[in-house]
Amino acid sequence: MGRGGPPALHGRCPPSGPCGAVTYALRSRRRGRSIGVNLFPLAQVCSFNCVYCFRGPTRILTAEPRDDGSGIDGRLLLRALEAAHEAAGGMGGVESLDFSGNGEPTLHPKFPELVEVARSFLRERGLDASLGVFTNSSKLGAESVIGALGRVDYVEAKLDAASRGKFLAINAPHGALSLDRVIGGLGELRRRFGGTLAIQVMLLRHRGLANYGIDDARAMAEALSRVGPDEVHLYTVYRAPRLPDVERAPREAMEEFAEVLAGHGLNVKVYPDRSAEALYPRRPPGRGRTAGRCTRVARGSAGATLQCGHPLPHADQGRRARIHGPPVGVAELHRHGRIYRE
Ligand code: SF4
Repeated sequence: MGRGGPPALHGRCPPSGPCGAVTYALRSRRRGRSIGVNLFPLAQVCSFNCVYCFRGPTRILTAEPRDDGSGIDGRLLLRALEAAHEAAGGMGGVESLDFSGNGEPTLHPKFPELVEVARSFLRERGLDASLGVFTNSSKLGAESVIGALGRVDYVEAKLDAASRGKFLAINAPHGALSLDRVIGGLGELRRRFGGTLAIQVMLLRHRGLANYGIDDARAMAEALSRVGPDEVHLYTVYRAPRLPDVERAPREAMEEFAEVLAGHGLNVKVYPDRSAEALYPRRPPGRGRTAGRCTRVARGSAGATLQCGHPLPHADQGRRARIHGPPVGVAELHRHGRIYRE
């Protein structure tokens, strides 16, 4: 199943296909200059087998903790982080450290321990990088996983469909999983997680079935209104998908989908293609209409004061203190706000 041999500690991750290194450098639109942590460098371990996965087919489909045979533990991860640190020339410019890579990181049997290693690594070196996890949301019912996520700053959690049929068709989950379990797990995470929770939605068409119609948007808006994420990110397919007949969502459909979500007070970002910065719905209706701008500030170089300027829908107003918080570092302000350079 695996490709044999020990994994590379640090290396390049191809834009499509499996990544063979434990840590890798990337430039992320959402997370800035980033180091990725890949817990399955030898074979993709996942609880889904999504039609659009750009890493290729899931090699080990499981709903329970599994390793890929690479035996990653705290010591090996620390060595890989050291290698990434060295390759990045000290990691001073790194803005985020994210568990992502092949498969679903929360399935790794040592996931809680590995999160703790990454957290300690950042703290002991005094690095001002946000620690994040990209997850498909399937393990949020596990106490050990929820507990470990409480140690990170940012979680980006997948929800591609709010109807059972489309969940099965698009994500092809392990038979032990259900959509109710996934959405219930997201609610539980929101109740217990104090960091930034972003929901990631992939919009696409596959063999005549699309998940970006108005009814899909309404169902998604209702499900996410119950969860209460800080942000919702809408994507479409921009890398080679696992199945070649997967088609992108039209940009207009993505914007209409976003407007429905914004109408429910959700804070939506649209990523219609690979290179674009996030778009915001231009005319979010009703209570989703922009009610102001985030006023969070940071001190830039030469003492300049930078202000975030991120548009806030009405629903954000009551939560502004938690979401938009006190003054922050310049790197975080760049990620959140409309300031892309000083
Ligand atoms: S959840 Fe992510 S890694 Fe797993 S199959 Fe889907 S896209 Fe690929």
